[in-house]
Order: sequence, then C-alpha cells, then structure tokens
Amino acid sequence: MQRAVDILNTYYGYEHFRPGQQELIDGILEGQDVLGVMPTGGGKSLCYQIPALLLDGTALIVSPLISLMKDQVDTLQSLGIQAAYINSQMDQFDYQETAYLLRSGQVKLLYVAPERLGSPAFLNLLGQIHISLVAVDEAHCISQWGQDFRPSYRSIVTLREFLGDGVPFAGFTATATNRVKEDIIQQLELREPMVYSASFDRPNLYFSVVQSTNKKRELVKQLDKDQSAIIYCNTRKNVEKVCEFLVKKGFPATYYHGGLAPEERSASQEDFLYDRKPIMVATNAFGMGIDKPDVRKVVHYNMPLDMESYYQEAGRAGRDGAPSEAVLFYSSQDILTNSFLIEQGNEPHAKVRLQKMTGYCKTGSCLRRTLLQYFDEEMDGMACDHCSNCHGETETIDITVDCQKILSCVYRMGQRFGTGMVTDVLRGKDTQRIRERQLEELSTYGILSKQSDGDIKDRISLMVGEGYLVMAGDSYPILQFTQKTPELLKGETTLSMVKRKNEKRKASRNEDWKSEEYDEELFEKLRQIRLGIANEMGKPPFVVFSDRSLIDMCAKLPTDEEAFLSVHGVGENKLKTYGEPFLKAIQEHVSL
Ligand code: ADP
Repeated sequence: MQRAVDILNTYYGYEHFRPGQQELIDGILEGQDVLGVMPTGGGKSLCYQIPALLLDGTALIVSPLISLMKDQVDTLQSLGIQAAYINSQMDQFDYQETAYLLRSGQVKLLYVAPERLGSPAFLNLLGQIHISLVAVDEAHCISQWGQDFRPSYRSIVTLREFLGDGVPFAGFTATATNRVKEDIIQQLELREPMVYSASFDRPNLYFSVVQSTNKKRELVKQLDKDQSAIIYCNTRKNVEKVCEFLVKKGFPATYYHGGLAPEERSASQEDFLYDRKPIMVATNAFGMGIDKPDVRKVVHYNMPLDMESYYQEAGRAGRDGAPSEAVLFYSSQDILTNSFLIEQGNEPHAKVRLQKMTGYCKTGSCLRRTLLQYFDEEMDGMACDHCSNCHGETETIDITVDCQKILSCVYRMGQRFGTGMVTDVLRGKDTQRIRERQLEELSTYGILSKQSDGDIKDRISLMVGEGYLVMAGDSYPILQFTQKTPELLKGETTLSMVKRKNEKRKASRNEDWKSEEYDEELFEKLRQIRLGIANEMGKPPFVVFSDRSLIDMCAKLPTDEEAFLSVHGVGENKLKTYGEPFLKAIQEHVSL
C-alpha cells in the first residue's frame, strides 16, 4: 500500500511533512475524528487531501467560499489528482458530468459549500457514492465565538447521521483560542478527536513596524512592480485613494472592498490571482481563504484594531514558505482615529485589544516574540533575529519629559481642546485661534517649538494608546486626563518610543536574500515561461509552479528529469506536464 509520505513526494514534490501533518493524516487514516489548528499557510489542506487519496471512495470537503473552490480544484488537478466541485453557479451540463464522475468513482475529492448540504438533490447524489471522509475547512465558521460565524455551517452535523458511523470527520482552522476550539468540537460533534495545534510561528516571515508621517512615500519604497503584495487599508475611501496613487506611479494594482458589485469584486480578485495586477489594495473584507501562495508582502497601511486580525491578515504573505514580509505602517493619526472610534462604540474588550495592538507597534522587543506571546506561545530564546527590532532597524528613545510637557499644556488649556490645537500651542504657532483665546500667554506656549507637528502628535497618540490621555467629547475629540495621568506627570512611570534608525538597512537585507537564494536573471526567464503557460491554460501562474519552486530551480539548476524532480514542489505530474520548457531554459542558461 502507498504511504502518506510517498504521496507527498510523488504528487506534491515535497520532501518532509510539516509539524502536525503526519499526526493528523494518521489519525484520519485510522478512522478517528481530528481537529487541526494551524496558522494560515501552515499546510492544512494536505492533511485531508492525502488521506482522501489513500482511502477508498470520495472525500467531501466543506469549504466556505465558492469563488475559491475553482482554484483549489485547479491546483489539485495540476498535480494529477481527481478533484471536482459542485456549486450553485454550475450549469446543468457540468453538474450532470460531475455527478457521473462521482457515481463512477472517478473523484477523490469533492468540494462543496455548506449551503449545498441543504439540497435534497445533492443528498440523493451523496447517497449513491461512497464517502471516505468529511473535511471541514475554516471550521471556526461553525462557532458563534469566532469572527466569521456562518449559520449554514451548522447543517454539516446532519451529515453524521446521514452518512452513518465509520466516516471520520476532520475540522481545520487557523483560529487559535481555546474557546473556539472547544466549540468546534461540540458543534461538529467530533468524537474524542485527535487535536493538533501547531505553533503559530511563521519562520519565513520578516515582521516590521514602520512609523511614518509620509506613508505614500514609504509604500513606494516598499513595493516592487513584479512582486505580489496585499495592502490593507482601514476604509473604502483609503483603499481607492491608495490604489489610484499606486496606479499613477505605474504599479500594477487593483482594489477590493465590500462596496463593490459582485462582478467587480470577482474581476478584481481574478486580476490579482492571475498576476495581471499582482498588487491588491483592500479592506479587511478581502481575505478569508485567499490562497495565493506567492504574496511576498502584506502591508498594513493603517494600524488594525486588534492583534488577531493583524496576524491573520499578515499571515497571507509567504504561504509557499519563501521569504516574505509583513509590514505595519503606523502613525499617530491611526491611534487617535482608532481610539476615538472605540470610545464612541461600546464594545467592552475593544479598548484592551487596541492597547495590545499599539503595544506591538511601539515595543522595542522582538516583534515575533510579542506576537507569539499574545497567542500564549513562548518562543525559544529571547529574540528571533528576523524582525525590524532584532535587526537593529529601530532604536528606543525615552520621551517621558516631552510627554510631561504635553500633559502640562493640556492641563493649562483646560482639557477643552483636541490634538491639533494642543500641538499648535506647544509649537508656539501664531494663529488667529490661539490669539483669540490668549493661549500664547500660557507658560507652555512654544515649549516644544523644536519638534515637528508629527513628533508631538506621535507622543500624544502614544499617551492615548497607553491610557494616560483619553479622547473625549461628543462630536469633536478633545484630550482629557485619566486616572493614570498623575503617574506619568509625577515621573512614577516612564514612556519610551521606537524610532526607525536608518532606511538603508532594509534594502541591504533584501539584497542578502537575493544573492543567497537565486539567480535573478534566470528567475525572470522562468517566470515568463510560467506566465505564458498559465495564460494559455487560463489559470493562475501559481497553479503551474510556485515562486518557491522557481527559486529552487534557480538554486539547484537541474538539467535532467531526475534532478528536476528534486525541486521543491515538483512531483511526477508536474514534471510530465510542465517540465520540458523549464528544463530547456535551465539547460540553455547553464551552457551560456
Ligand atoms: P493553509 O493551512 O493556509 O490551508 P495550505 O494547505 O494552503 O495552507 O498550504 C500552504 C502552502 O504550503 C501550499 O503551497 C502547500 O502546497 C505548501 N505545503 C503544505 N505542506 C507542505 C510540506 N509538507 N512541505 C512543503 N510545502 C508544503
């Protein structure tokens, strides 16, 4: 009998299992229910795909998004795996053909959305085929405690009775909290499941926080016209503005937000997936299940509201395991806007969550460690050496005295003004509004005249984030003291801030990667070949080969079939289907 690891080698072209994969696969093969919790990009799909290939019959995969099923099925078919989907957008002819393939035992994996389980015609079809396994992707959608609850997920459990005992159920999710885990087990009625929770660390991601008063300029520095990136913004308006700016600068960018019509959304998503426009600017509406494995950078143009959202979105970079970056831009304005929003709403935990997020932005310690600690995971050692803080891109400066001066000014102004006015007084500006109120007579007028507006606003926002000032007021946010303010005023506590040291450092780090990893000229040639094949097939380029596979080709320079098979992500089917033009290009390159 074929073993799981043989399938991993021959179909997928991967050498080793990642942590947890073997355990979950073995559990399913032994007929056990399982629950796999792994971060985005951790490799959950393989955990049900391999058992599906080893067990008799068809595995039923319940997945939330119809739009993604096609990609998943395309990817599997390119590996030589018999996969299909059934959804509401299919015409009668395609449905009948798929039903025929299913009845005649020619489908190993069938993808459906949970809504389908309510269709009597579909259940009738299920009754005629042998189901080997039910895998539930994005299983947290079944829990009301998770962020993406979908009532239709609750119908999955009716399959238990319908299919009878003996069919293992497997749930997979990237949501880590214990409460959601327990709820999934209960709602899916998993029977003494084998649970595997993988580490949330993503070693191939470089984390950085960039404090910037000119985000557009910073964004241009960060992006590369040939590399796929996602830029998350906080509002629809910002999404459109940033995208327009990038397009003007010549970047192949598109955008996505909840205000677009469904056709516009899918056109934009396709442009991104097919690399026609590899840069996507979006709100957080864009994301769940986005499977593009070669996203090299995720930039948060605005600070998100909490760490869970941040890590989930940032995790969409580098799913293929190649070096990638998660960059967070933050400015004082973000903290102020978010604080004001939260002050207005009445979500009890929102404030604490925002404080954690602000803490991440301003910490001087290892960013990876801070993230993992948030998810209750301890990292080996104190620092990762692979984030902007560990890399010495930042320095920590003490701002206690500046903050005391600001607080004193807020106090003398009667706690009746907003950030802009307080900043103007501290800088000693000569404006009509100041003269009208005789604020130039205050002892704090002009005491921070040497600092920029941005510097002062950064300090104010930090104090708001840390709870030393609060944004009060009904229609206009004014700065007021809190119970904690005296601690800082009296110097019982100190405040520090992280500043970017120099900008050249980052570029040199990228250079390191490039020289160490691959020959760029060959990489570019191979990319073009891949694009040509993908266009001809009408499929996204990553279905042919991932970036990681191309990089590995450039490093290993295989000139015959056997060597080509040792490339990451090259299995027998891919060698047979796509190998030739790539091998030829490498042979030519080597003989030059
Ligand atoms: P997710 O957990 O987000 O569903 P995927 O299953 O999509 O992650 O896997 C992410 C990427 O990692 C895919 O390109 C997949 O082929 C690759 N991958 C999965 N398992 C392995 C492995 N054992 N070795 C190398 N790459 C792997």
